[in-house]
Amino acid sequence: MKIINPATEEVLADIELADAAETDRAVERAGRAFRSWRATAPADRARLLRAFAARVREAADVLADLETANAGHTVGNARWEAGNVSDVLEYYAAAPERHLGSQIPVAGGIDVTFREPLGVVGVIVPWNFPMVIMGWAAAPALAAGNTVIVKPAEQTPLTALKLAELALSAGLPEGVLQVLPGAGEVAGARLAEHPEVAKIVFTGSTEVGRLIMASAAKTLKRVTLELGGKSANIVFADADVERAAKTAPGAVFDNAGQDCCARSRILVQREVYDRFMEVFEPAVRDVVVGDPRDPATEMGPLISAEHRERVRGYVGDPAFRGDCPQGRGFWFPPTVLTPDERSPAWQEEIFGPVASVMPFDDEESAIRLANATPYGLSGSIWTRDVGRALRVSRAVESGNLSVNSHSSVRYATPFGGFKQSGIGRELGPDALDAFTEIKNVFISTD
Ligand code: NAD
Repeated sequence: MKIINPATEEVLADIELADAAETDRAVERAGRAFRSWRATAPADRARLLRAFAARVREAADVLADLETANAGHTVGNARWEAGNVSDVLEYYAAAPERHLGSQIPVAGGIDVTFREPLGVVGVIVPWNFPMVIMGWAAAPALAAGNTVIVKPAEQTPLTALKLAELALSAGLPEGVLQVLPGAGEVAGARLAEHPEVAKIVFTGSTEVGRLIMASAAKTLKRVTLELGGKSANIVFADADVERAAKTAPGAVFDNAGQDCCARSRILVQREVYDRFMEVFEPAVRDVVVGDPRDPATEMGPLISAEHRERVRGYVGDPAFRGDCPQGRGFWFPPTVLTPDERSPAWQEEIFGPVASVMPFDDEESAIRLANATPYGLSGSIWTRDVGRALRVSRAVESGNLSVNSHSSVRYATPFGGFKQSGIGRELGPDALDAFTEIKNVFISTD
């Protein structure tokens, strides 16, 4: 596979893709490593994860530069992402020694529960946030005593390969964390069907998520699915409309809109619609699109020429748009549409820098519009009324909402989707539950 810099179209590397037989060998290695990793003392597992976190922190600039070159992420974002990987490793390094079970009062003896690791966990990663998404699954899975095989997206394996190298240099035993570049339909599909893989964490499109779930069903494999989104940014008339309008571009154009949490449907209460657009339009035109290595750049290119064509297909007659470089690189300008409810641009995940704006009349219609999608991942609510903020937060069918802000992701809080945005949660204090089975043991005192 030729790995391409999406900002320049230069070839960065030539990577050999694993076939089904190589995938089977990786599973065998992970299975062998599991026997000793699960038996490693909790404090030692914790120490190794802390050492891994430290290596990642030391290599943060190298990782950030790799992501900027391979995925076109702005260098500011890529540095944050490398920092997030080490934060997540540190956070879950505290888990092995606090991975408690229960003691439950029963007659005739004592009853205790243990949280047992599952075994070999397959992590299938998309191209939009390669290292962060790998870290969110790998860190808690390893902390719980599982071994992990990461299959990065075909286009973006470079940071994952570097992270595997750093894990080894930090002292993680061979086979505990492997990275297997491969085609989705070959290596990814093999992991999903392999009888010796206990769990798949899949992040990607809802369409492939369905295939993974069907395949995993044959061996009753556990799955966590983090899928697509079409999130709403709801701006009520009583909000700080200027702040909402100034921050709305960042909430949808960050990472060139290739973000499952992108607030790509902007709902604005009718009486402040014109005011919102007055501030929103210059804010969109001001988004700095260009060389992702320049710290002043706010938006880089799309991942590939093919993806750019897909995004272009949604854009007919835009209301307005910003600028982007011409020439080499997969550039696309920040674009704003005002479609109707039946338009594919309003209904489907575009996964590019395209925002759609629509007016609404009252709280009830805002909630109806926000929920009129099969997705339910993220969203924002702008209002100064605390009661409304809480009512609407409870009514919107979505896993991650923010009020008067656009943040969705913190490693200490749970992340995941309602409806067809996924199954299960990552991050937060309970993430190890997704990588363990509860075992109940009764010990007779008679
Ligand atoms: P994708 O579904 O095409 O690919 C994702 C991964 O699955 C890649 O590694 C790919 O090689 C692999 N794959 C493809 N076909 C497969 C198969 N048959 N069996 C096993 N693996 C297979 O998605 P993408 O285009 O890389 O990523 C974009 C999608 O990811 C968007 O829909 C986005 O919303 C979603 N996403 C979701 C989250 C979340 O946390 N909910 C986060 C990031 C991205």
